[in-house]
Amino acid sequence: MPAARATSPPDGSRVPTHRVAVLLPVPVDRAFDYLPLPGTDDPSAKGMALKPGDIVAVPLGKTRGIGVVWAPSTPDSKPVDRARLKPVLEKLDLPPLPADLCRLIDWVAAYTLTPRGKVLRMAINTATILHPPAPRTACRLVVPPPAGARLTPARHRVLARLSQPGPWSRPVLAKAAGVSGAVVRGMAEAGLIEATPMAPAVAVWGPSGADALPAPALSPAQEAAAAALRRRVGDGGFSVTLLDGVTGSGKTEVYFEAIAEALRRGRQALVLLPEIALSAQWLERFRRRFGADPAVWHSDLTPAVRRATWHAIAAGHARVAVGARSALFLPLAALGVIVVDEEHEAAFKQEEGVIYHARDMAVVRARLAAIPAVLASATPSLETLTNVEEGRYTRLVLADRHGGAQMPQVTIVDLRRHPPPRRHWLSPVLRTAVTQSLERGEQAMLFLNRRGYAPLTLCRGCGHRMRCANCAAWLVEHRAAGRLACHHCGESQPLPRLCPHCQAEDSLIACGPGVERVAEEAAAAWPQARIAIMTSDTVTGPRDAEALVDRMQAREIDILVGTQVMAKGHHFPLLTAVGVVDADLGLAGGDLRAAERTFQLLHQVAGRAGRAEHPGRVYLQTYLPQHPVTQALAAGARDRFMASEAEDRRDRLLPPFGRLAAIVVSASAAAEAEAAARALAKNAPRIEGVRVLGPAAAPLSLLRGRHRFRLLLKTGKGANLQAILRQWLDSTKIKPGIKIEVDVDPYSFL
Ligand code: ADP
Ligand code: ZN
Repeated sequence: MPAARATSPPDGSRVPTHRVAVLLPVPVDRAFDYLPLPGTDDPSAKGMALKPGDIVAVPLGKTRGIGVVWAPSTPDSKPVDRARLKPVLEKLDLPPLPADLCRLIDWVAAYTLTPRGKVLRMAINTATILHPPAPRTACRLVVPPPAGARLTPARHRVLARLSQPGPWSRPVLAKAAGVSGAVVRGMAEAGLIEATPMAPAVAVWGPSGADALPAPALSPAQEAAAAALRRRVGDGGFSVTLLDGVTGSGKTEVYFEAIAEALRRGRQALVLLPEIALSAQWLERFRRRFGADPAVWHSDLTPAVRRATWHAIAAGHARVAVGARSALFLPLAALGVIVVDEEHEAAFKQEEGVIYHARDMAVVRARLAAIPAVLASATPSLETLTNVEEGRYTRLVLADRHGGAQMPQVTIVDLRRHPPPRRHWLSPVLRTAVTQSLERGEQAMLFLNRRGYAPLTLCRGCGHRMRCANCAAWLVEHRAAGRLACHHCGESQPLPRLCPHCQAEDSLIACGPGVERVAEEAAAAWPQARIAIMTSDTVTGPRDAEALVDRMQAREIDILVGTQVMAKGHHFPLLTAVGVVDADLGLAGGDLRAAERTFQLLHQVAGRAGRAEHPGRVYLQTYLPQHPVTQALAAGARDRFMASEAEDRRDRLLPPFGRLAAIVVSASAAAEAEAAARALAKNAPRIEGVRVLGPAAAPLSLLRGRHRFRLLLKTGKGANLQAILRQWLDSTKIKPGIKIEVDVDPYSFL
């Protein structure tokens, strides 16, 4: 009893803040209670008392853990015997996590039914962020060089590199000079080069001021939109603005003005892009406008750069952060605006770990921080358009392309009337168009959203199909690499010479096209043309993307063949012919957004054409020329198409007019997964207006060796979906070995 009394005085007086709740970045929902730092329990020791957001070291079992003070005391924590509580070890010398970020973590956890500690881990990744950086040294020339040192050609190359601006660490220097590490080491031993402390991994944290460089002259429409955004940033407070502009209308230049306004007011800005690794052109434009690099945040940063970036943002030295989804959890304490570019992109939905939609959570963060959010797109999502319609978001429109460029003309190519030759994929119509563009010295693009050479390989002798051992999926041939790969689990194997089933020799044949095969066909059709492939296989980082885009802009490429990574954002002034090899791909399947997404993707692809003075033409190869998506693309009838999509979904009470949550039950044995899914279904909530569909075997019924069954919870728009889910899952017994994944607002139906 004394323990309970210590926290709840019988006289009802205020509970002293004599314990602190610390949230740890581990998959636990609850914050743990600790005693305050020794000597700070006294309320008079105000300056030393811990505040919410403070980053602290605490004892965790026998080790030391890092966590964040979440509240002086959490209401949901069980009363723990005070005598068993341990004190906080120390407060780390770091700025506290901003209050809006802490609330965001609570919010995302509650919304997605994820333990809070697991969400916190996205904000403070202790392994890379909080450990002190390793000392780093660079090399420099010894002047004058020691007498008698031998100078081989390799050593010459190293010295030549070193005379260029650094810093040069030993490995970077060796790589740049094309020599082995031993050569550089030998030079250090010979006294030709010496070590010097290296500046931090990222030296420039600009921009500091908005007016470092003049803004480009904006068109009247651009200026009107920019002025509205500036006003919103200046006024502060929460708002969401959709920047709705056709491809090539200059949305980027316009939202740069919102960022400039935030900087002018001493605030920070956050920009979310769907694929930061592929945004070399975006960074180039940012540099041109602001004269410095933003802090870039994505999963491929080296630990040293990651650490330096996080600290610069937390300390407020870095003023603009740009990144993919995870940048949303950066500790920007003086946030003045959040921009989500290409807001309709499905890439903003994280499908693993914490399953959340970065665009939606960006709006939540803006609300918690009381700042404006800007969503930009040429093809806004139905969710966002509905929010505009219902008055929650405002819309700014850019109706024309910058500089008077025309929107491309879209032609439907009916493949039943204009079939390509057998085992070929480019129709005569498309071939003629590409030839004409090439003859005028312009460029062409062939789009097929399928990596590799062929989606299916089978044996001509016995009909055996090559499938993944871990997934319910065909293996995709990657001919350039000589391998068969699974696009779901990443496993790959060399392309066998014998059929694994009937042992026939050289009997495996490729069925259907991937981009490699289209490129092969293009090379045969236009032997003089310089052809490049752009997919996530050929472009694995910002450097590759930049190199490829540079080559395209320098006219070193005549035909670019690629997947959706090529569809986004890029500006190629000489690109005049775009061929969509299979406009029907993506329309099949049970995805409620299949039509919307296909429209958005193909509209983006089409938007690459004719962005400068040369008019562009787009060819959609299809077997479904009457499909609403194809028709809308050809007619440029976006609004009409989206309106009919809205009507359809309203009728069926599907998002955004109803709410969905997907539940995926998986286990290593199919029978166990199915039994667990059935048990869940049997215990389904019986509430009016709430329906549970399934269980059904998932379309991807086997993934990474786990058998999967799906259930779908469907509610009206006003229902508390999370409460229903929580009550349902908490009241169902789930055996060990069964994994339950909850996906609120699902975008993937595999
Ligand atoms: P969107 O994102 O709307 O498709 P972009 O922002 O990529 O369009 O702009 C298309 C092209 O036009 C880019 O090369 C951009 O630099 C250029 N541009 C847009 N507005 C201006 C302007 N006011 N002055 C100069 N160039 C502009
Ligand atoms: Zn697989």
